[in-house]
Amino acid sequence: MTNDVESFSIPLNKLDTATVKEVYEVGLPRLLDLYAQHDIKCTFYFTGMFAEQSPESVELVKGHGHEIGCHGYDHSPEKAFDTLSYEEQITELKKAKSAIEGVAGNIVSFRAPMLRINEATVRALEETGFRSDSSVASQRFDGPLTFGSKKKLKWLVASRKPYMISHDSVVKSGSSNILEIPISAALIPFIGTTMRISPLMTKIVQKYLYRESKRTDKPIVFLFHPNECLDVGGRIEATRRTKNPIEYLFADVIRHKLKLKNLGMNAVKLLDEILTSASEYGFEFVSASEYRKMVSAQKPMDF
Ligand SMILES: [Zn+2]
Repeated sequence: MTNDVESFSIPLNKLDTATVKEVYEVGLPRLLDLYAQHDIKCTFYFTGMFAEQSPESVELVKGHGHEIGCHGYDHSPEKAFDTLSYEEQITELKKAKSAIEGVAGNIVSFRAPMLRINEATVRALEETGFRSDSSVASQRFDGPLTFGSKKKLKWLVASRKPYMISHDSVVKSGSSNILEIPISAALIPFIGTTMRISPLMTKIVQKYLYRESKRTDKPIVFLFHPNECLDVGGRIEATRRTKNPIEYLFADVIRHKLKLKNLGMNAVKLLDEILTSASEYGFEFVSASEYRKMVSAQKPMDF
């Protein structure tokens, strides 16, 4: 179970400082309560900026025994990792790392903002002391609905099982030190957004993933955001984040409308159902760093 903590307001469709406070006061407590009820430990990927604006949030999550990871520094489309050079990525990672580690101690798990990475990211992660990445969503098909979706087409050929990521291609296994732990999908992503837009479709995907996992031992990775636990409260605004008219129509207008569904306590309830069914099916919950350790302990031949 993974959570991306960023200062993004879903109703306002932009980065927003007031949301940081709300995530600390409402979103995180709702979510941490739910995880405590299920007695599970997760990974929370924080942006460096969020950790700077709300170190108490990092402390709160850590205090509940969850792993703290890194979700880049500021989550702006202009700083998407797949558009930055190797040196620029190192700078972003160092900035984010020092902001988060100041509160959380050493961190080793990474997920890129907007799930956008390239080959330079792999080397940059090694250079800055990370051990795993979880930004590839194998066989997830976004169409034009997210930023950078053309490059995300390569997800269609990525391994479904975790793999030591190659220096030459982020969707191939190779000899780097970074374990890719793919976010689960079966064309449709297994994430909070889909869960809220169509609980029924999510149940179908979930059933497929459970059976596959039983057959292949592949872990399932669900992606959620504490800001999905916040109530809309009437503040809806359309914000344009891109100059590209196609990206604007799909990623900023249509996706924004869809993403407003089932926010707040509805999201908590839907996630509760998923966690209950996973436990009933016999899944064990581990953090990204625990999973990374399990892989290190296995023979290389198994991977
Ligand atoms: Zn994010």
